[in-house]
Amino acid sequence: MQRRALAVLGICLIFAVLPITAHSGEVLFQYATIDALLAGVYDGQLTNGELKKQGNLGLGTFNALDGEMVVLDGKVYQVKVSGQVHLAPDNGKTPFAAVTTFSPKKSVTLKKAGNLKELTQLIDESLPTKNIFYALKIEGRFARMKTRSVPRQNRPYPPLVKAVEKQAVFEFKNVEGTMLGFRCPVFVKGVNVPGYHLHFLSKDRKAGGHVLDCTVENLTVQIDPIHKFNLVLPSDPDFYRLDLDRDKSVELKKVEK
Ligand code: ZN
Repeated sequence: MQRRALAVLGICLIFAVLPITAHSGEVLFQYATIDALLAGVYDGQLTNGELKKQGNLGLGTFNALDGEMVVLDGKVYQVKVSGQVHLAPDNGKTPFAAVTTFSPKKSVTLKKAGNLKELTQLIDESLPTKNIFYALKIEGRFARMKTRSVPRQNRPYPPLVKAVEKQAVFEFKNVEGTMLGFRCPVFVKGVNVPGYHLHFLSKDRKAGGHVLDCTVENLTVQIDPIHKFNLVLPSDPDFYRLDLDRDKSVELKKVEK
């Protein structure tokens, strides 16, 4: 009798634990799509304050394409085209952003990566699969960091490939800070950036931007695998009117690099 009770209890415990395991873990929260941004939809309705409720680490941009967004430790930083960085107001809005509640499960020490391509290859070698999302964070002193920011646009908005022609590029040597972002699976093409998308913020919070290149020596990358994706689509005429039939992979490569 006692044994049967224990068996029943055991089965109950298994069922109690299983669903939690299957549904627990981080969520990648995303507002709007990368192809909408490429097409020039630079105004969204999601506020920075609302975005912060969905995660404490991430990236994106601001309405009117007013600079690069870095979300770090629950704060939303705006890296303007001038290179200046400040905290974005909670009532400011974003046309594209992705965040998660960062909880790293694994870390890998990178002995040396001469450039961004080498860095991403090294990280790739440590990943069990390319078919899920990963949030990444690298903290420390970077031998070299090359970033960019984008200029605020006026309506009628040009496509992103046109807007980035006037981007500002910043290069830093031996700079302390945090590089963070995501590695997305290839099947999110059109929705988010397949592969790596990284932004940087210096420790003194005075510099940063979208990472174009970097050199890394003896730094540790913290990795958080993500199995859940929460996509929120805009509900405004700009987004509704868009024709998103065309593949924009070539344009995306141009604006990211
Ligand atoms: Zn970016």
